[in-house]
Amino acid sequence: MGRYLEAKCRLCRREKMKLFLKGIRCATEKCSFGKRPTPPGTHTRMSSKSSYYCLQLREKQKVKRMYGMLEGQFKRFFKVASKSRGVTGRTLIQLLERRLDNVIYRAIFASSRSQARQFVCHGFAFIGEKRVDIPSYVIKGGDVIEIRANENIKALIRENIKIDSKERSVSSWIEADTENLKIKILRMPERDDLAAPVNEQLIVELYSK
Ligand code: SF4
Repeated sequence: MGRYLEAKCRLCRREKMKLFLKGIRCATEKCSFGKRPTPPGTHTRMSSKSSYYCLQLREKQKVKRMYGMLEGQFKRFFKVASKSRGVTGRTLIQLLERRLDNVIYRAIFASSRSQARQFVCHGFAFIGEKRVDIPSYVIKGGDVIEIRANENIKALIRENIKIDSKERSVSSWIEADTENLKIKILRMPERDDLAAPVNEQLIVELYSK
């Protein structure tokens, strides 16, 4: 699978908002967002008014990068959302929120989605008695996720909880047992549970062309 290997902070500058891609660093003064107001690349200072297509594209790129996904996988999520009942944009956001790596991030067990993805890929996540090592796995209502790892990883997770809980709280649709490192899904996430400024309708319009 391909991976984005360039500097992550460039993505925040490109999307003109903090995407919180580097964990604890994002909440400190080390965060470079705001220090350089222009998007990365040459001639960006000259850029004028954006076309409507550009707005749609930027919105899609923003959400895709926020969840750390590549184009093919993001498109597959969109396809599933468009075939589901209900409003496509809203369903897309709900599906993205239900990704296993995102759930671990929302429980503050990981300081970023990429760290959560590593936990899953290394086989630390169990749903019931089954090990799930697919970060894009979509959780269901009532699922209980447990992190089973060695003491070093558990210490790292506890450190994440200690530091990150000062900056963000556990999402209201999940319950995090910080003692036993378990996450219970209380209900499916709603559109309003995503506080980030996202206009999912622009993404729907882009993919519907
Ligand atoms: Fe974005 Fe700041 Fe985090 Fe870098 S440190 S990824 S600029 S939020």
